Amino acid sequence: ACAISPKAIVGDACASYSTLESLNRKVKPAVDELVQTTDFFSYYRLNLFHKKCPFWDDENGMCGNIACAVETLDNEKDIPEVWRASELGKLEGPRAKHPGKSIQREEPVRPLQGGLGEGVGESCVVEYDDECDDRDYCVPEDESSTSRGDYVSLLRNPERFTGYAGSGAKQVWDAIYRENCFQRSSFPGSALVGRTTVPRGPAAMDFKAVIESAGRQQLLEEQRQHEPLTPFVAKTGLEHEDECLEKRVFYRVMSGMHASISTHLCWDFLNQTTGQWQPNLQCYVDRLHGFPDRISNLYFNYAILTRAIAKLGPYLAQRNDYTFCLGDRDQDATTRAKVLAVTEQAASVPQIFDESLMFKNGEGPSLKEDFRNRFRNVSRLMDCVGCDKCRLWGKLQTAGYGTALKVLFEFDNNKDPKPPALKRTEIVALFNTYARLSSSMTAVQQFRAMAEKQLHGG
Ligand code: FAD
Repeated sequence: ACAISPKAIVGDACASYSTLESLNRKVKPAVDELVQTTDFFSYYRLNLFHKKCPFWDDENGMCGNIACAVETLDNEKDIPEVWRASELGKLEGPRAKHPGKSIQREEPVRPLQGGLGEGVGESCVVEYDDECDDRDYCVPEDESSTSRGDYVSLLRNPERFTGYAGSGAKQVWDAIYRENCFQRSSFPGSALVGRTTVPRGPAAMDFKAVIESAGRQQLLEEQRQHEPLTPFVAKTGLEHEDECLEKRVFYRVMSGMHASISTHLCWDFLNQTTGQWQPNLQCYVDRLHGFPDRISNLYFNYAILTRAIAKLGPYLAQRNDYTFCLGDRDQDATTRAKVLAVTEQAASVPQIFDESLMFKNGEGPSLKEDFRNRFRNVSRLMDCVGCDKCRLWGKLQTAGYGTALKVLFEFDNNKDPKPPALKRTEIVALFNTYARLSSSMTAVQQFRAMAEKQLHGG
């Protein structure tokens, strides 16, 4: 079998970028259909406003705070208010409160407090409260005793440029890499080393910089299409033998998530001069094109999620194992069919990530616990993100990766009859994170073509 094993960094990977890209051409329409047309997958329940950042006083990190806004955008005062970071980062659309546990017991499906709007199949959206599972890689969203969270429309709040930046955002990324990741001084793109940040402000495109940067990358790009992930990654210095496999995987997941967020904010970027939402090539060049390791980590995450979703597929297919819309058979059947369209595509390629190689040696169990705890810390760090929309997507994606890791590492489909019980939030997060990665991959391909066109004077 041809697999992107977690050992891809040190050898034996044979899934190439083009393999994943051709898989994605089939996955993308199916996963977009799922997350864009079903109530079950387009509403997410989370505790967005009631948790304090547990690591530092986050007052200064808030985007609504003028200091953040000034740092974020040049001359923010001079642009219309609706284009300011604090406005762009706000949530939109109706938000419904979660019904309490006792109400749920009495009335299985009831209208949500607050309401999500007409035509929303609430039997698909309301979540029943389950007990926490110590195999979770994330802090469950319903952990807080004071609030059980809100339901938020993901379609009304797309992940895109918000203007959230400056010290608040940097502090979160630094904490993810430095405090929660296993340190790596040799990695050139890491927050430990740092580099000049992207200038913000009106989205002028500096094509000279694009061309120079694209020129540097051209050789790599030409080789890229049929190249396995291994040698590409090896050039980044990640192959240091003193670092164990699990720690590298942890780092790659974080960096791949970061790369995906950067891709979306560059792709759906607000040109503050014209007021148009459009791709910003310079933003892509500065954050991704010059860092093939980041793009490699994005693809790595796509491979991980593909594997988790393929593994879960047979269980989601069974009506007895999982119900999507309680009490509404038609919506349940439609949603399940759309889920299966995704899981079948994910399972259509040979196994592309071999999780059985991880946590095998003597320190396996304690390392796994460490891995899980670090991941939970990253999920707690999302409460330090000072922009509502970024926090929504940050929380959703960490929960999505957490679910994938739970399916990969806490479930052996050769031995266990069923995967660990998954909450609605986990399944919604998993498939939406897959959809995010899928659209990031497509955007990266389009950006690459745009950069090449500039290079050749097109
Ligand atoms: P940052 O992206 O802040 O990166 C900081 C440093 O990390 C870089 O200088 C570099 O050394 C390193 N680095 C960058 N990328 C990688 C990578 N892939 N792998 C390893 N190291 C890397 N902004 C929006 O506009 N919309 C959003 O939806 C949004 N969501 C966010 C969600 C979270 C959880 C966080 C923490 C921030 C979010 N932001 C969002 C802000 C955005 O990610 C950037 O922080 C911001 O645009 C400033 O970018 P920057 O160029 O200063 O570098």
